[in-house]
Amino acid sequence: MSLAGIDKYELLSDLAKRRGFFWPSFEIYGGVSGYLDLGPLGAKMKRRIEDRWLQLFVYQHGFATISSPVITPERVFIASGHVEHFKDLMVTCKDCRRHFKADHVITEAMPGRADIATEAMSPAEIDSFISENTIRCPECGGPLSQAEFFSTMFRTNIGPYGDVTGYARPEAAQGMFVDFKRVFEASREKLPLGIAQIGTVMRNEISPRQGPIRLREFTIMELEFFFDPEEPRCNYMNRVSDVELPLLLMKSREQDHSNVTRLPAHEAAGTGLVKNEWSAYFMALSVRFAKSLGIPLEKQRFEEKLPAERSHYSAQTFDHQIWLDRWGWVEIAGHAYRTDFDLSAHIKGSGVDLSVFKPYATPVEKQVTVVVPNESVLGPTLREKSRVVLDALKSANPEDLKRAFKKTGYLEIQGFRVLPSHVRFEDRTIRETGRRVVPHVIEPSYGAERIVYSTLEYAYNRVKDRVVLKVPPDLAPMQMMVFPLMAKDDLPGIASRVADFLIGNGFDVEYDDAGTIGRRYARADEIGVPISITIDYDTQKNETVTLRDRDSWQQVRIKWKDIPALVPDFLKGAKAFSELGEAVRVDYE
Ligand SMILES: [Zn+2]
Repeated sequence: MSLAGIDKYELLSDLAKRRGFFWPSFEIYGGVSGYLDLGPLGAKMKRRIEDRWLQLFVYQHGFATISSPVITPERVFIASGHVEHFKDLMVTCKDCRRHFKADHVITEAMPGRADIATEAMSPAEIDSFISENTIRCPECGGPLSQAEFFSTMFRTNIGPYGDVTGYARPEAAQGMFVDFKRVFEASREKLPLGIAQIGTVMRNEISPRQGPIRLREFTIMELEFFFDPEEPRCNYMNRVSDVELPLLLMKSREQDHSNVTRLPAHEAAGTGLVKNEWSAYFMALSVRFAKSLGIPLEKQRFEEKLPAERSHYSAQTFDHQIWLDRWGWVEIAGHAYRTDFDLSAHIKGSGVDLSVFKPYATPVEKQVTVVVPNESVLGPTLREKSRVVLDALKSANPEDLKRAFKKTGYLEIQGFRVLPSHVRFEDRTIRETGRRVVPHVIEPSYGAERIVYSTLEYAYNRVKDRVVLKVPPDLAPMQMMVFPLMAKDDLPGIASRVADFLIGNGFDVEYDDAGTIGRRYARADEIGVPISITIDYDTQKNETVTLRDRDSWQQVRIKWKDIPALVPDFLKGAKAFSELGEAVRVDYE
């Protein structure tokens, strides 16, 4: 809580509705929880955040992007394990019949108990925890039912007769796995390979009551990074040598405290606390990403998930959490080490070989023992079964045969007893030109709407009696506003021409002549416009305008034709405001 007992979520929601950042969906019909609309400013800001994410995680490494469908046939999610595992435990109030996510009911009833790993509890553990602590319905105080599983995937039919079941994807990742072979081939068959996708996902959350934080439909920004598990080194570690990872490790959580271990990314990987170097690297990028949204390092941490809290596909997961005023530590990203789980699952599910061939630099000669069937002995005994048994023998493991002969004197293959006299073992030299690898996968995954909200919350400031939304200038939805000082003497005409000139140069600019200049500045501050441009009587004389800085309220005077050359550096943070022109003091406030 802050700002006189009203939390930032409340203050921001009010501003967001009034000014066009976000509001609850289907509002005129009373709304449905778990859905959020982004307005003109919110949608624009989301796009800028997506672009920044793409630049940081994808483009700077030359990774690929794809776009795949939301509705996915059941077979994909059976193979991936989602049909079996993507579900939450639910309890129902016996009086008011409302449904609740079981772990939320417990967390809310036991505030400040970070040690209770509710996500890891079994139905029976939930039931006994609820009865031992006499937890009741958070809405009406009624008794709660036993916990039961609820699939949180939206289910539908593909086509008119329901012959193919489909699900809305709860993550975009499966698109990247299913398309792996195609993208690999199109990318000149090189590992490592990154494939990313930004798109809609849906999760049928049981009772979302956290505004923009828990949505039933949202935009995911997801990267699947494929690498050879025998070559796990990350060649970009030196790019993040300055980044410290704040780690809330499993062992700390298990000992019931929340001590954060701070380590440079390379050490976190070197000591094995983060199991994979690429994971540590992407986590370091994640810190940098969050900082660039205006979220300071001390409001960030990575919570290592306990084995029972992890998704079914993950060998290690860190949630990148940030501190929000109303909800405390909230996950903005998940960093999962998915190993070869998904590709192997789809190899099994589809029957298509998704492994890749890695040629050796120089072919390797290898001594191997092979099984040679003694066909003159076997042939007459086997008769019509011979082909099947001979094939099985040729691919049999010599060690298995030797062991079986030693133990029982025979090995049964396809119902036939193979005796030592049926085969002989031969040592041979073979030339291997490469090996087949099922790549391992590291996945950083982000929820875009949550990040838009978090950016706005950290931007929310009060200066004197006014709200100033200090959004990082290059993420601001509106970059400049153009004001004529007075709505007369052709000042509006010049201001319109300046606004059109800037729009023509690719800037997001709005023209505004309503109310006093002071009120217009206040409105610009409230929606986070970094620069306000005022056209006054000097503009008529010498084509100069005043630029006003949102954060310092300083002013400089420059020729308006110079704006496109100078302002981009300021928006990127490469130039200070005072470097844009000659400082002036005009009291318009
Ligand atoms: Zn109730």
